Amino acid sequence: MAGRHFLFVPGPTNVPDRVQRAMLVAMEDHRSSKFPELTLPLFEDLKKVFKSTDGQVFIFPSSGTGAWEASLSNTLSPGDKVLASRFGQFSHLWIDLAQRLGLDVQVLEEEWGTGVKPDKIEAILRDDKSHQIKAVLAVHNETATGVTSDIGAVRKAIDAAGHPALLYVDGVSSIGSLDFRADEWRVDLAVAGSQKGLMLPAGLGIVCVSPRALAASKTAGLKRVYFDFADQIKANATGYFPYTPPLPLLYGLRESLRILFEEKLEHVYERHHVLAGGVRAAVKAWGLHPCAKESKWDSDTVTAIVVPQGINGADVIDAAYRRYNLSLGAGLSQVAGKVFRIGHLGDLNDLMVLGAIAGAEMAMRDVGIDITLGSGVGAAQTHFRSTVLAKEKKP
Ligand code: PLP
Repeated sequence: MAGRHFLFVPGPTNVPDRVQRAMLVAMEDHRSSKFPELTLPLFEDLKKVFKSTDGQVFIFPSSGTGAWEASLSNTLSPGDKVLASRFGQFSHLWIDLAQRLGLDVQVLEEEWGTGVKPDKIEAILRDDKSHQIKAVLAVHNETATGVTSDIGAVRKAIDAAGHPALLYVDGVSSIGSLDFRADEWRVDLAVAGSQKGLMLPAGLGIVCVSPRALAASKTAGLKRVYFDFADQIKANATGYFPYTPPLPLLYGLRESLRILFEEKLEHVYERHHVLAGGVRAAVKAWGLHPCAKESKWDSDTVTAIVVPQGINGADVIDAAYRRYNLSLGAGLSQVAGKVFRIGHLGDLNDLMVLGAIAGAEMAMRDVGIDITLGSGVGAAQTHFRSTVLAKEKKP
């Protein structure tokens, strides 16, 4: 089909042209004396995205799942008890990974469409007088349902219980798009991936590790080889990787960080909030509902839209893809067929999002959903215009 494909899955996201060009590099010697000039600033600049000053960032040639595994296997021992909330496919998969590593996971089941409940975490930690729970796992942004949890409140809950558990946060679909504060929330292990807010292809799993977590890694008993922090610590110090790094991705990361800093992170978060507001206005105008049960759970990076009874969300996605050159996100696991998702993160602007909303409207009508064509587009236009005009009025 002519024209650009409209990629609106919640990762991988659009790779900006500047980043694409930056990745077109000849291979080079990753042991050269010059190589650290590329890598050392990457570690430091990534810390700015995590909002960490005293942590250390490790970059693994892996997807986000590898970074999940790295965070757990480096800091915990076989049979260690960890507390994790499950409310979507990604919180489920992290729990599954923890169990397969041999950890004893206490699962807090939450309704899908809601998120982490800090009060429940506090109560459980208060009861754990002998401090058997070594870790609290929280998914900041559940990509499957479009739910964002309050990580600052989770930190407060742990502190209120006076509990020493380490805090692990999955920020794969939030870091680089939503406000994330590793230092302020004292996140011990923050996990990110390259293919969402960082606007790169998949292939880099990134972890920001607090000094407490680094200390825990010295005595943690789980086996790790490829993901060993000890090897990465040397990489951080020298700028060389323990194995062959994916050079184009590192050059791409250099450029994507430059783009984020040029826009300024606070503006990036604000832009995502506005784009998400447009999508939410469209959903309301369609007379449909997001999967997020209350507005306090709304995610600014992805919206899962519940399709009416008798309609298969997969048909909406297929019509959008085949007829209108638009990729929407699928419903996963418990919500398979029940929702379709619009990813609104990364290198996007108002008009691109309007295109996705327009395409979703046509696809929904094609499969028999009774919405008025243009209603969502109109609502989103109103939202975007009022935001732009309000900003212009500000002194
Ligand atoms: N965590 C979240 C919140 C995700 O959205 C994803 C992927 O979409 C992952 C973890 C897993 O990352 P990856 O697919 O890069 O392994």
